[in-house]
Amino acid sequence: MDERKESGRTAKNLHRKCRQESNGLAKNDGHRGASENRKKASGQGCAHFKKCGSCKYLDMSYEEQLAKKRREVRELMEKHCKVKPVIGMENPFHYRHKVQAVFGLDQKKHIISGVYEEKSHRLLPVESCLIEDEKSDEIISTIRSMLRSFKIKAYDEDTGYGLLRYVLIRKGCFTGEIMVVLVTASPVFPSKRNFVDALCKAHPEITTVVQNVNDRSDSLILGARYQVLYGKGYIMDELCGLRFRISPASFYQVNPLQAQKLYEKAVALAGLSGRETVVDAYCGTGTIGLIAAKHAGRVLAVESNPEAVRDAISNAKENRIGNIRFYRDDAGNFLQSCAADGISVDVLLLDPPRAGSSEEFLTAAAELAPGRIVYVSCNPVTLERDVAFLKKKGYRAQEVHPVDMFPWTGSIEAVALLSRIK
Ligand code: SAH
Repeated sequence: MDERKESGRTAKNLHRKCRQESNGLAKNDGHRGASENRKKASGQGCAHFKKCGSCKYLDMSYEEQLAKKRREVRELMEKHCKVKPVIGMENPFHYRHKVQAVFGLDQKKHIISGVYEEKSHRLLPVESCLIEDEKSDEIISTIRSMLRSFKIKAYDEDTGYGLLRYVLIRKGCFTGEIMVVLVTASPVFPSKRNFVDALCKAHPEITTVVQNVNDRSDSLILGARYQVLYGKGYIMDELCGLRFRISPASFYQVNPLQAQKLYEKAVALAGLSGRETVVDAYCGTGTIGLIAAKHAGRVLAVESNPEAVRDAISNAKENRIGNIRFYRDDAGNFLQSCAADGISVDVLLLDPPRAGSSEEFLTAAAELAPGRIVYVSCNPVTLERDVAFLKKKGYRAQEVHPVDMFPWTGSIEAVALLSRIK
């Protein structure tokens, strides 16, 4: 599909599936027998299986992965509630809409780009990847092939010599907008105008190019300084009827298609009628709270990262949503002050990091006594721990829906509904 046509999509048609899903690759799921077994044995044909370390389940079919992930959630959560079938992908390939490549040199000093081998600092050259957006991989390959003629050197970690360290590509799944971030070791980028012109000519679907300067020696990809070389310096994406701004460093789910299903499920479980006071805790850039705001009386959203809060406020403005307020605070502190102020909360939505929530947070949550708690989790182990804690505080888990955000990897996300029983 023509990417530029995609970028013309509006909020009205955003519930159409994004590009790779509509191509209907479900073919792979249907295959059985010898060819399926061959594919599994060869790690679905990935040249880097067992080296790169990301896709540990390439030797399973997609159904086997979903069954394994459901078993994992059941083992932990079945004692609390019903575990629903995993919400999987129709086409579990090329779902990553944030792709990053390390640039460097091989032993013959040829420019290569790819990822570090698992638990090592050896750079694995990667041409294409089964889970990364294909257009993004193509752009990285174009950049690699352009460097020589522009006399741009890839950064050499051993000598500290060379310019280009990383390339980060972010693509709007539903808008098709593409941002290329060129991470360089120094701000001096000779003939950058010609380089960017040639790159955009080769890939007219690129909507913005940003230079980021990273002269540090740690493993973080982005440095503190940015210079927009082409376009607006950010892209927009659309999710659940809303528009979100994605800057080079913004947090945004890398699999937006599944994120949309996850958020829709979370808001459906919240059972909103339009009058409720909702708290969105660990709100990031505000996605879940903004989606919930359309169905609630008001939303109070809390997040500790100031940059995420800034993005969240601009997302609320962009979507003209006035019944949400963002607070930069520790989520536990915030709930405690809500409880102390006697604020009445009907629904609590939370989406904490892998470590789960804190006892202070959960204790304050029970004190606030919302009728429903919707818990979005990226780690079923801490989900179970926190659900067990809330059970002692008068809540009962009703159901949990696992959602496969990262096919071929061992990760599983889940959304659980808890209700107050006393
Ligand atoms: N709900 C968002 C982001 C979830 S990621 C989304 O779906 O996009 C978890 C978020 O919790 C991160 O943005 C992180 O900065 C924030 N966070 C981590 N610890 C926190 C704490 N103690 N208090 C508030 N926010 C916290």
